[in-house]
Amino acid sequence: MERKVAGTRVLQVDSAEPDPAAISEAAALLRAGDVVAFPTETVYGLGASALDGQAVRRIYAAKGRPSDNPLIVHVADRAQLADVVASVPPAAERLMDLYWPGPLTLVMPKGPKVAPEVTCGLDTVGVRMPDHPVAQALIRAAGVPIAAPSANRSGRPSPTTAEHVVEDLADRIPLVLDAGETGVGVESTVLDVTVDPPVLLRPGGVTLEELEAAIGHVEVAPAVLGADPGERPRSPGMKYKHYAPRAPLILVDGPVIQMQNKIRDLAMEYLEEGKRVGILCSAESRGVYVAPVILEYGSRADLSGVASDLFAALRAFDRHGVDVILAEGVPETGMGLAIMNRLRRAAGGRVIRV
Ligand code: AMP
Ligand code: MG
Repeated sequence: MERKVAGTRVLQVDSAEPDPAAISEAAALLRAGDVVAFPTETVYGLGASALDGQAVRRIYAAKGRPSDNPLIVHVADRAQLADVVASVPPAAERLMDLYWPGPLTLVMPKGPKVAPEVTCGLDTVGVRMPDHPVAQALIRAAGVPIAAPSANRSGRPSPTTAEHVVEDLADRIPLVLDAGETGVGVESTVLDVTVDPPVLLRPGGVTLEELEAAIGHVEVAPAVLGADPGERPRSPGMKYKHYAPRAPLILVDGPVIQMQNKIRDLAMEYLEEGKRVGILCSAESRGVYVAPVILEYGSRADLSGVASDLFAALRAFDRHGVDVILAEGVPETGMGLAIMNRLRRAAGGRVIRV
């Protein structure tokens, strides 16, 4: 099935067995130096050939992405890795054995074929092998490694459905492959393995606990936990506003009861000011609040479920036209580290600890 939104075609494909005709059409666009949005197991990506600098520049233009924020390169198999990296550190070998294909991006020494636009001139490159039949089929058919950031306008929550992609990029890209909702819901974990111990640059689908069980101690970049990343962070993406719904979001973090009390007080104050208040909370807290818009991100007992619904919930507040969003934090273990990282960044510094 096919539909058209402004100048953008949206082609529906089966998520397990994508139609080869749709894949070869998308692959032809990529080989011709154009961009295509496609599903991965984390979020939808906006891809272009990683070996073609001009094609890669189209990604930055479509997203409005700052030109110093490097892209992740996606490969279909280990053989393709040789086109991307100059060498593979031992810790990377072990992690690839365990977590590829999967939501783990490894920062390694850059190979000469990768266009400088992909890495913004850095001598390292982030690379991963996505665990999604559509992404794998597309990369294989294109025959080149694919550079792909999330398929959203820069600064917005990452897209977990083709509709989210269209919301942000209609008329700016030629084609979206639509295979329904993505699974993990937050982006890949980014780990720099060019240093010892390796440094976690972005928490994501593979948890810190899983990484440490595989390779021992992992340093956590301070910006992951909310520290100001400064002018020249190790991962340039750290310094940009990200994941933001249209209304300002205030993140409240702490023990459950204190958190609920603080959000109730704040909601009351904003309501008295005549503001339309939105609350983003766990299923367990739903009954505690009174506000015009209350959206759940799922149960605190299932943080993977929360990760998978988080970005869609943030985008939903735009449709409800709220003036302010009050969000509950989650414990920072397992997937909670990635969830809190995204919520802190969506809050852009408006974090209240109780
Ligand atoms: P996105 O593609 O929007 O999911 O963002 C990719 C993230 O990976 C950004 O935060 C980048 O800063 C980070 N990244 C990509 N390549 C590198 C690299 N070579 N070194 C450090 N961080 C990187
Ligand atoms: Mg992104």
